[in-house]
Amino acid sequence: MTSYVITPPRQAAVSVQGRDELFPVRRVYCIGRNYADHAIEMGHDPDRELPFFFQKNADNVNSSGEFPYPAKSSDVHHEIELVVALKSGGVNIEAENALEHVYGYAVGIDMTRRDLQAEMKAARRPWEIGKAFEHSAPVGPIIPASETGHLESGSISLSVNGEQRQKGDLNQMIWKVPEMISYLSEYYEIAAGDLIMSGTPAGVGPVVRGDEMVGSVEGIGELVVKVV
Ligand code: MN
Repeated sequence: MTSYVITPPRQAAVSVQGRDELFPVRRVYCIGRNYADHAIEMGHDPDRELPFFFQKNADNVNSSGEFPYPAKSSDVHHEIELVVALKSGGVNIEAENALEHVYGYAVGIDMTRRDLQAEMKAARRPWEIGKAFEHSAPVGPIIPASETGHLESGSISLSVNGEQRQKGDLNQMIWKVPEMISYLSEYYEIAAGDLIMSGTPAGVGPVVRGDEMVGSVEGIGELVVKVV
């Protein structure tokens, strides 16, 4: 049996609805500007440019129902997203076969230190400190695709303190789930345990301590996260 010189880090994981076993998280990929109305609100052309991706760390996944307001920012935004959980992977996966690799779906929020992201964009530096920080990926329970079917349309929304902030439909995604899996697999060897946060519709905005976010994806359910 392998032993380690220090205690191995805890395996990041997400619960699965109706199961005692957890879904272990390997990587967290996030696609940028995948809904035209959000691309426009961020000052970009929504034409179908090639998708781009960044990553959060697996241990940024947060299923606690609480989001501790992070250090070094005074402009932390919510981005409601459909999360795709992979049960297998590979390289150069064809879009028509891509959904075979999907274990299930969840509701997630790509929490973003928008001020730090903007500074990094302006300096042409990586966005990482704006995106991949502690607790920055609240994710609800995964619902197996065997129960939900594959989700191509349906409402996606987020409210803060009962007021709707974001509203869209999964059918507005510029790059659909099979296409983003296929494209990712050209650049990375994707694998079981990977999560893909599939982009956010318009209406992103700031939260403050004490706010309650309720994210919702039709066919999956709600994710309630308190900012603490
Ligand atoms: Mn996002």
